[in-house]
Amino acid sequence: MINNTQSQHVLIIGGGVAGLALALFLKKAGISCSIYEAYAYKGAAGGGMNIAPNGMNVLAALGLADKLAARGAVTQEHCFRSENGKVLARIPYGNTRKYGQPGVSISRSALYEVLTSEINNAGIEVSYNKRLQFIEELPGGVTAYFEDGSSDSGHILIGADGIRSKTRSHVLPVGPTPSFTGIVGVGGFVKLEKVPELTSQDLSSLNFTFGAKGFFGYCAADTGYAMWWSNLEAAQPMSEAALRDTSMDKLQEEMLGIYRDFHVPVATLIKHTERPIRQNISDIPSLPTWHKGRVLLIGDAAHAVSPNSGQGASLALEDAMYLAKLLRDGQADYKKVFTQFEAGRKQRVEKIVAEGRRRGNDKKVLSPMQAKIRNFMMSVFLKLFGIKGIDWVYRYKIDWE
Ligand SMILES: Cc1cc2nc3c(=O)[nH]c(=O)nc-3n(C[C@H](O)[C@H](O)[C@H](O)COP(=O)(O)OP(=O)(O)OC[C@H]3O[C@@H](n4cnc5c(N)ncnc54)[C@H](O)[C@@H]3O)c2cc1C
Repeated sequence: MINNTQSQHVLIIGGGVAGLALALFLKKAGISCSIYEAYAYKGAAGGGMNIAPNGMNVLAALGLADKLAARGAVTQEHCFRSENGKVLARIPYGNTRKYGQPGVSISRSALYEVLTSEINNAGIEVSYNKRLQFIEELPGGVTAYFEDGSSDSGHILIGADGIRSKTRSHVLPVGPTPSFTGIVGVGGFVKLEKVPELTSQDLSSLNFTFGAKGFFGYCAADTGYAMWWSNLEAAQPMSEAALRDTSMDKLQEEMLGIYRDFHVPVATLIKHTERPIRQNISDIPSLPTWHKGRVLLIGDAAHAVSPNSGQGASLALEDAMYLAKLLRDGQADYKKVFTQFEAGRKQRVEKIVAEGRRRGNDKKVLSPMQAKIRNFMMSVFLKLFGIKGIDWVYRYKIDWE
């Protein structure tokens, strides 16, 4: 048994975006912590994502924004198109003058590399292959028990263990639990040299195409690569074996069946995909509380946001910084800190969750007539209101001082 006896030692369950960022901010705050991650280091794991300006501002506070921008692709605008390629609207996005940071598209593995290298430089302990089994709270502290029979104790425990959080079942033993949304997210990476059709404007945009048969998005990603993503409607979630399947043939056939007639370069992107990714997209209703006793949930464990919002990782980063600041200032009064954390974060997060659900509905399969009406409305509203509707999301900044 490992035992941390310091009065202010934080146990972090989950070495994803929220867990790694929290550990880095705790280090800045002078608070000791250990991270426990269920899997081995996931160097090449996962698909890609866009870190929005609000998330990039959190990374800037860690001194990591420039490193991330150098590994990924800076995005300047959102471009919305119909399936025949007609531009419905172009909306400025990464306005650094306005938000302080641009948006950056990057693979999950590169984001993890940047965060993990900083964790190693800071000398923070990460234990891999440590899957939380249960939690025990005693008057003086909290103990995490892992599936391999080991355990560790600390002052408080933070559940940063994602949408299928085990920590959540300690905080809320009777649920709610996540449910499948009827969407399988698919996507992949493509070498830029395979897609000469991509213009420099395409490469500095997040490109969203809306057709009757579905939605297709693409952008530049890590140096030399583009990435794409799409939604497939499905009655049942995919099995674990099907999700692990990295062969492209079946997915390519299915995707070309839907998107063959979409504008250039959609079919080319599908044809040249490396590392295809499939993910069951799940959702969880608003939780009645994010904490119990010495245990608090952050990131997707507290509020899984639809990938359609493009905000899940950015919100996880915000949570990490906000919590570390409260812990720094609130010292050992964890009860007060947990109450302040939930009060300070819930309203913002739930507004963004609701917006993500609404955007998911815009991407559903429609009749050709419904799709025409949807695209017309989109073009009118986007041209009228532009970025204004989402400005409050990107503008959010936490003052560390
Ligand atoms: C297809 C898709 C596309 C997305 N695109 C975007 C995007 O463009 N922009 C964006 O901002 N967000 C995006 N997201 C959302 C984003 O990925 C998540 O919101 C973000 O990763 C949440 O971070 P987290 O640290 O809370 O959880 P996670 O990143 O899920 O990390 C949780 C960690 O906990 C570990 N864990 C789980 N159970 C245990 C256990 N019992 N014991 C120990 N460890 C455990 C897991 O292995 C994992 O490493 C996307 C999500 C999906 C599915």
